[in-house]
Amino acid sequence: MKIKQFLKNLAWNLFLAATVFHVGTEVCYTARRTYLDRHPSKLRREFYGQFWVPLSGWEEDIEDNRELASRIAEELHRHQILGTVPLKGINVESRNYLKKSFLEQVRFILHGRNRTISGYYDNNSKSVDFFRNTDNGSIAHEIAHSKVDYKLEEDPSLLHRFERISIDKNGRSPYNEKKGRKLEDLTQEERELGFLTEYSITSPGEELAESSRYEQMPEELLFEEIFVKKNPRLLEKIRYAKELKIIPNEFEDYVRIKQDYKEFDGEQNAKKFLEDTDKFLHRNSGSVYECGIHGLRSRVLKHLHQIECFRDGKKPDYELAKIELIKGLNSRFKNREEYTSALYNLRMIYDLRGEKSKADTLSEASREYDKRYSNGKPNLSYVGVNDFLEDNGISLDLHESRKLHSILGGKNE
Ligand SMILES: [Zn+2]
Repeated sequence: MKIKQFLKNLAWNLFLAATVFHVGTEVCYTARRTYLDRHPSKLRREFYGQFWVPLSGWEEDIEDNRELASRIAEELHRHQILGTVPLKGINVESRNYLKKSFLEQVRFILHGRNRTISGYYDNNSKSVDFFRNTDNGSIAHEIAHSKVDYKLEEDPSLLHRFERISIDKNGRSPYNEKKGRKLEDLTQEERELGFLTEYSITSPGEELAESSRYEQMPEELLFEEIFVKKNPRLLEKIRYAKELKIIPNEFEDYVRIKQDYKEFDGEQNAKKFLEDTDKFLHRNSGSVYECGIHGLRSRVLKHLHQIECFRDGKKPDYELAKIELIKGLNSRFKNREEYTSALYNLRMIYDLRGEKSKADTLSEASREYDKRYSNGKPNLSYVGVNDFLEDNGISLDLHESRKLHSILGGKNE
């Protein structure tokens, strides 16, 4: 009996100690976080000013980890171009147990050992939680949850209808919470059911959020499923993702263009590619793919121009390829990957043209971009470093440069 009483006392004391400990961490958390929310840094103010969504977290995860704000901003901007993001807040959750809120501590105890979790969407507070090293795909995924959740409120049968797309020939639903945790490749049968990522098979809601990753799949795989096999289940899932504004309407056209570029050979193809991409850009003005498509066109134009000049014994000026890159820099959505590549390629063109000082300015612009990116600049995908280029004598106004060119008697457009 004595032992039983001892254990009972011990359990009670442990419970009290845990309670005192967690009340302590919660008081510290609330006090400091309230202070930070009421006295936001310049970075947090800029973020809020850009998106009207507050960014919260400890200084070590935000002000001392500024690149994260640039990454979140790009994904948020991209999602906003596709459609309204009904998100009320973004929180960067600490990895330090003592710096978690009570709710975060409970979640950590329940899921903490699961390393695959890189963020959460909370449908009560309509906010997302990320960790400091969450990758961009997971950021996009969590933001997509807010769009799914919003749609579910007006259409509660959405998930059920979506689930029906993947019902197999035996009438069974393949979704399973545990399945996504295994790091195995999807089976052929699962691919036929329209699954593209392992995690998407955990639940219909997760699969809808995962559709934000469709664009990161290899072009060959997408092209084969969409255009060769015409996988009806995948096509239906893509239709849902478009309806929820998780991927753009021009998604399939973009897949085709990327694939065409990969299979690009010879002059005939090049002309067809330029026509197709020209149509794409006219039809989808302001598309999130704009900067990347200008980049591809620039490469093709450069290649064609080299062939023509070689044949005619002329000195190449790469004017059209240059204009295409400037159009890329002027794109509405200046995503890091494509925009920095446009800066790099424009530098190469100035080098080839023998315009050394302009090439140097472009190198400086790339360094300026990296600086802004690591300093956390929430409007980087809106402005890039175009202001820096203009201030340093690189005109991005194509209308102006064309006018000047015609005054000087140039033949190029
Ligand atoms: Zn999720």
